[in-house]
Amino acid sequence: MAGHHPNDDRDRVLAATDLLSIVGEVVALRPKGREHVGLCPFHDDRTPSMAVVTHKGGFGADAFYKCFSCGAGGNAIDFVMNYHKLEFREALKFLADRAGVELTPWEGQRAARRDGEPTRDDVLRANEIAQRFFRRSYADEAKGAKARSEVARRGFEAEIVEGFGLGAAPASMDALVVGVRQNIANGVANFPPFEAFVQAGVIRPGRGGHIDLLRDRLVFPIRDDMGRAIAFGGRKLDPEQEPKYLNSPESPVFHKSKSLYGIDRAKRAIIESKTAIITEGYTDVIACHRGGFTNAVATLGTALTREHARVLRRMSDNVVLLFDGDEAGLKAADRALEVFFAEPVDIRICVLPDALDPDDLLRQEGGRERFREALDRSVDLLTFMTARIRAKFAGRGLSGRQQTIESTLARFVDLGLNSMSGLRRHLVLQSLSDLFDMSARDLDLLCQSMRSRLQPMEREAGHDDPQSASASRGAATFEVPLSTPGGEARARARRAAERRLLAILCTDPGLASVQVSVEGCGTLPLSEAIAPSEFADHGHSAIFAVIRDAAEEGRAIRFATLLSDLADATLKRLASDLYTFGEDLLQAAQSQAAMAGTRRSAAEEVVVSWSDLENLERRARLRNSSDRSNGGHAGEERESSLRSVTDEGRSAASGSAARQSDVSDINGSDERRASPRSATEQAAIDRLARARERGHDATAVSALFGRRSSASGAGARTERAEPHGTPGRSSNQ
Ligand SMILES: [Zn+2]
Repeated sequence: MAGHHPNDDRDRVLAATDLLSIVGEVVALRPKGREHVGLCPFHDDRTPSMAVVTHKGGFGADAFYKCFSCGAGGNAIDFVMNYHKLEFREALKFLADRAGVELTPWEGQRAARRDGEPTRDDVLRANEIAQRFFRRSYADEAKGAKARSEVARRGFEAEIVEGFGLGAAPASMDALVVGVRQNIANGVANFPPFEAFVQAGVIRPGRGGHIDLLRDRLVFPIRDDMGRAIAFGGRKLDPEQEPKYLNSPESPVFHKSKSLYGIDRAKRAIIESKTAIITEGYTDVIACHRGGFTNAVATLGTALTREHARVLRRMSDNVVLLFDGDEAGLKAADRALEVFFAEPVDIRICVLPDALDPDDLLRQEGGRERFREALDRSVDLLTFMTARIRAKFAGRGLSGRQQTIESTLARFVDLGLNSMSGLRRHLVLQSLSDLFDMSARDLDLLCQSMRSRLQPMEREAGHDDPQSASASRGAATFEVPLSTPGGEARARARRAAERRLLAILCTDPGLASVQVSVEGCGTLPLSEAIAPSEFADHGHSAIFAVIRDAAEEGRAIRFATLLSDLADATLKRLASDLYTFGEDLLQAAQSQAAMAGTRRSAAEEVVVSWSDLENLERRARLRNSSDRSNGGHAGEERESSLRSVTDEGRSAASGSAARQSDVSDINGSDERRASPRSATEQAAIDRLARARERGHDATAVSALFGRRSSASGAGARTERAEPHGTPGRSSNQ
């Protein structure tokens, strides 16, 4: 470096670089005071620990980033070096290219290479050269003819071909090999060594010497999120050829388990929409982008992995897995459960109608709308999986049920249930509680006991062998208290449903006039559908009485009026607590609805909560009668309350910490809780605060996803009307 004034280059590059946009491309940032904050990509960050501090709009050598948790920090060059794992010179060049700064020529580069061993940079440049070769072949009148006609057959526009960098591998054994050898023989400056092409996988050893990996194929470059080619996929152009798709092998720059096809094109849309759509292949991604769903990417021949989730989590923590309904999709969903347990991402499953793939669907008239509707109807992974487990339950006797419970819990514990963050663990337990008709507390104890019993075995088996660990778990015996007194579990479920309904009413007592459907009575105003005496909890009963009285007298009351109408200090505290909870529920429902492109009103939430309460009643009656007729079960009746449990969890997930101050205002006191929080509750609340910190509110759901979707209308209602068509159908297969 000596003698070339590297600091001049550095300063010029930094002065021309916008740190905010460099960081903002890979991390979702939001303004906070005079800084921008986001999740730190350099450690396993769950709160936004990274601050980007800029002056004069982000440009200049004095802009810096800093992580308050792991201590990572520096300027734009440091960020690019650390994030993209580049050497100083590479990072400088990367930024210079972006900013249009010409660097001082530097000759030391080749000397840095030891013994002809290609560097990472060599492998990247080999891929870049291969990409240019495929692009040139595509443009060549003769060599590219078949690829171009395949592209024409698919109807890809020129901008798609350009944007995704589609190319052609000529129908020759070694066209690329010959080209590379020529360049090396000609001593082309800075040309990577032959071995770099072999390591990149674009050239491989054949029987009679080296040959091209891709021959006679339409080429899809696979790029990293910086837009650099890291691998290639080739689709056959000759019907006789096998396989249909062929990918580059793993290389120093390409790891299937963390690479996502299309991430370079989708990154911005994923950050803006806070959602990533994961499809099954190259053509799915291109179809989605052509259809306007530019937040679509694809895994490369693997199911979604933890590494994928980690890459995506920096941009958004909502993932929609898109399937055209085949068995592979179900398997992938099953695998995704592992990711859900391991990484704090929300995963939804979307199965396209009529087993159509995205391309077929989007080509239809009204296809975009149907696609959008399918996205709106996507089902939370947990709901999806519990629906499948329920299907296993169906028609099985007591021992079959016990087996299902055991194996399900063992699997969930294996997946890491016991080490999940408070809220997510709570969520899972709630879903299982409803599914198995056991209290969440019993399940909780059961899971913890499984763990403590299994830990010694795990140690013997060795930590690194999940197979044997899970085998020993499967063999473990433990008592499942199947005969949990139904009465107690039911009472608890009922109180929870009451609480939910009342919580929303507290946010706006006027909602008591909303019409709800009552079994056998058509619809009634809520204030008439249920009497205060029917509430199991005395406090709930008293609060509802005040709301009901106001409704009957035609008085429009607000929460403040309700509070002053309550005589007792304990009731006031309970009401404040409910109000807080209700606000969280509504906010979460709205942010979820906004994600789905619809608006769900408070009135709708009341209706939904009511129907949960109603269903609970119906289930209790059904169960009583089926208990008498020897162990049947209430089947579909469980669906809606299961759903609501999940929704409630979601609500909690995107709920709000800022609520605290709302309550203090109302209450004039911080001591507002009627009872101390359990550790689980506290953990959930902490998690909420973090979720909020990360910008999970309805208003933050932006552009793309939300705006496009707003056309598709009453998604929330549709979803409510037939929420389980998809998993139900799939799980019957
Ligand atoms: Zn950090």
